[in-house]
Amino acid sequence: MKATGPIPAGYDSIDGELAIGGVPASALASKVGDTPLFVYSSDHIQARITELRAAMPKRLALHYAMKGNPYPPILALMNGLVDGFDVASGGELELAVAAGVDPARISFAGPGKRDRELERAILLGITLNCESEGEVTRALTIGARLAKTPQLAVRVNPSFDLKGSGMKMGGGAKQFGVDAERVPALVKRIIAAGAKWQGFHIYAGSQALSADAIIAMQAQTLALVAELTEAIGTSPPKVNLGGGFGIPYFPGDAPLDIHAVGLALNASLNALPDALAGSDFCIELGRFLVGEAGVYLTRIIDRKISHGETFLVTDGGLHHQLAASGNFGTVIRRNYPVAIATRYGAEPTEVATIVGCLCTPLDKLSDSAHLPRAEVGDLVAIFCAGAYGASASPANFLGQGPATELLV
Ligand SMILES: *Cc1c(COP(=O)(O)O)cnc(C)c1O
Repeated sequence: MKATGPIPAGYDSIDGELAIGGVPASALASKVGDTPLFVYSSDHIQARITELRAAMPKRLALHYAMKGNPYPPILALMNGLVDGFDVASGGELELAVAAGVDPARISFAGPGKRDRELERAILLGITLNCESEGEVTRALTIGARLAKTPQLAVRVNPSFDLKGSGMKMGGGAKQFGVDAERVPALVKRIIAAGAKWQGFHIYAGSQALSADAIIAMQAQTLALVAELTEAIGTSPPKVNLGGGFGIPYFPGDAPLDIHAVGLALNASLNALPDALAGSDFCIELGRFLVGEAGVYLTRIIDRKISHGETFLVTDGGLHHQLAASGNFGTVIRRNYPVAIATRYGAEPTEVATIVGCLCTPLDKLSDSAHLPRAEVGDLVAIFCAGAYGASASPANFLGQGPATELLV
């Protein structure tokens, strides 16, 4: 038997079934008419943001990094809940604009922005988080050609990283941002060229559950911002402190203590040098806002025994939930939180391995989990499917196609 990750708070049982947004799993599947499906709870997302805002300093703005979940109804919901959107491609930019997001509230990061993506962002007045000197040069050229003033922030590659983070995006040689020591000269060049300098973007990593690690990263980030500001001699209008707030996925993971993070950040913001008194600060979060609000529901279509082990074969798989199979940035495969949705809360009575329908041994959704006995027709729930699920999985693999998504 292998442990499974902790089921996120906020899920109840109705008539012995997992309910999402107050609707039982089988009713959700009937409503959509097919399985598998992703179900996202708007209540869950709203409650998460309310709790986060209460814990964070009032002065801190909250941005949604939409990479984790670009499903249009979620973008529309988020538009009323957060202060800004961070996009990382021209495709995400168009989705945000189509969802009604004011371009003035959008910033665009990511290495390898094409000229046509820069052009579109400059025309719309979106802030570009520039990742290199070359990108700044191209943006200035395009701005001159269009007779539009580019809004340019500089993404800084800091000398530190986010400790304990699942994905490090700062510290040492990286494809992201401009090495900190070259930033002052670049910002001076942006200002001298007549572009609107929008400030700094400093993103050091993702998926940290340690409050101490986030607190240390934010303190280092603010110290770096103060140093850069002094070297430049002009105050940054905006400072994006990055994110990195993680969620529990695996056995033994505990939720991030956002109250501790908020208290420390409040103290740091109150101790800033005068040059930063008028700057706006924000954090940008993806999975922390939506990850636990989503559930992947897939139906058991076969139940079989091999060498004494029970396999539950589902109609879903890694083509929708790559991360749960352990093939999206994890070194050791561990079980996501999982349940038999149509027998929710029933006592576990057997050990079973839940697999997908793909012809590859990688397609394992849960390995040797302790579960109530499930039959063909039962629904399996894989939790923590609200971020890096549908849009981060190879939906066309084996000709399967995407799962339906639903916001309730
Ligand atoms: C991926 C990414 C995010 C979102 O990360 P989460 O772990 O989902 O919060 C935010 N900002 C940048 C620059 C990113 O690359």
